[in-house]
Amino acid sequence: MTYTKVLKLFDSADIVVCGGGTAGVFVALAAAEKCQNVLIVEQFGSLGGTATNGLVTPIMSSHMSGNPACSYLTKKLAERMKEKGTATRQNGSNFDPLALKLELEEMCMEAGVKILYHTFIADVIKDGNTVKAIVVANKAGLTLIEGKIFIDATGDGDVSVLAGAKYGKGNPETGKNQPVSLRYIVGGIDKQTFANFTAEHIAQNKVSDGQTNPDSTNYYSAVTNNGAWALSDLFDEAIAKGELVYEDKCYWQVFSLPNRNDTLAFNNPEFFDEVDATDPVQMSHIQSLGKVAIARQLRFYKKYFKGFENAYISEIASMVGVRESRNIVCDHVITAEELLQKSKFDDAISQSNYPVDIHGKQLTLKYVPPVDDKPYYEIPYRSLVVKGIDNLMVVGRCLGAEFLAESSLRVQLSVRSSGEAAGIAASMALSEGKNIHALDGAEVRREMQRLGADFVNR
Ligand SMILES: Cc1cc2nc3c(=O)[nH]c(=O)nc-3n(C[C@H](O)[C@H](O)[C@H](O)COP(=O)(O)OP(=O)(O)OC[C@H]3O[C@@H](n4cnc5c(N)ncnc54)[C@H](O)[C@@H]3O)c2cc1C
Repeated sequence: MTYTKVLKLFDSADIVVCGGGTAGVFVALAAAEKCQNVLIVEQFGSLGGTATNGLVTPIMSSHMSGNPACSYLTKKLAERMKEKGTATRQNGSNFDPLALKLELEEMCMEAGVKILYHTFIADVIKDGNTVKAIVVANKAGLTLIEGKIFIDATGDGDVSVLAGAKYGKGNPETGKNQPVSLRYIVGGIDKQTFANFTAEHIAQNKVSDGQTNPDSTNYYSAVTNNGAWALSDLFDEAIAKGELVYEDKCYWQVFSLPNRNDTLAFNNPEFFDEVDATDPVQMSHIQSLGKVAIARQLRFYKKYFKGFENAYISEIASMVGVRESRNIVCDHVITAEELLQKSKFDDAISQSNYPVDIHGKQLTLKYVPPVDDKPYYEIPYRSLVVKGIDNLMVVGRCLGAEFLAESSLRVQLSVRSSGEAAGIAASMALSEGKNIHALDGAEVRREMQRLGADFVNR
């Protein structure tokens, strides 16, 4: 090829997974069941993306009866982590992000997946409608990685957009993306004291929101602008004194982590203005604003919360937590209406009934009422196949969906099953000599089921 005369070939693989995040690892592990030549290209030095480097835990429930994972790999991973005590509950949903990072690395090593870290995908080389190679930047300079099938697992649909795919972005009513967050973990907490302190506040403030669990090993609490919460009054006092800002109270949420007895994971601070994850200047600014906010929040905890006297920041996410950026136009785009109508598809590869979850200064978590006796929606295989490009699939939160639909299917169970389906589909397409656009998604699902994935009514 002429392009290899300009840029040197660095590597090649049958299946090139672009991004080793929440969905990308599932692509690679599923593809490696049948394909010996799978490569992950990842900008950071570890796997798991938003779930590990973004410190996003726990996995939300699908809100379906039985909470099926629609993924045999989720079951396998949960078993491995539960055995070590680093995850608890069904689907290993309450997990330690650092432990997940280690487990994913081990699983990829065992499966023979090749990983190229510290490598950013900056461009795409196409021949007609076929992606021939990605252009990557790393310490070796600008080079090429060739592949037969490429899977865009970058979260932001970078590869698809570079390949010329169309996409949607932001809330159609405002043009804005969902808020972003920079998550962190605090250590050195006396959790029993803090749990007792929370319980006192529940009694004192007469809140019965049922959201605060004062058990020290399974602690969960939140404060938002919607309604009264156990600790709301402390936030109000600190805001009045200038020790916190109004935004600190808009979304504050805290979870315990398995196996870490003096530690809590925070799902904040959240940012509402600079929210475009495809703008490096905005994301850099959020990294700075985030750290300032984290320092401010720690000062608040130490002054106002019992049990935080010796607390310290033990981890800050290296990735800004991005809820939504681009969604790629695929052979099928899941519409808002389809999600609200809980639509089913013959080629379904995932099922969920997670609510519409659009953040803002006023949270709007919407539980969509059932329309029939099957209260869940499905994600069709076709929403993973990038329209107009012969050999490119897209997985994770940037798959083919409208804004409202993405707000629900962005959670980790759905994202993981999209990755697993794409990995199986890619290896199937290669072994059967079929094009990914012509593949029957129902067959992909059946293979997921054969390997152990649970679906309902399928
Ligand atoms: C603050 C926050 C809270 C959330 N809370 C929950 C929750 O409680 N429960 C839940 O289930 N879900 C939650 N979610 C949603 C869920 O965690 C994410 O939607 C999901 O993890 C995204 O997975 P992904 O594979 O699409 O992207 P990611 O996991 O972000 O993976 C993308 C990967 O691609 C890499 N990458 C990107 N661009 C490039 C490039 N150009 N070159 C090389 N590598 C690249 C990244 O480094 C990363 O590893 C939350 C999300 C956020 C942001």
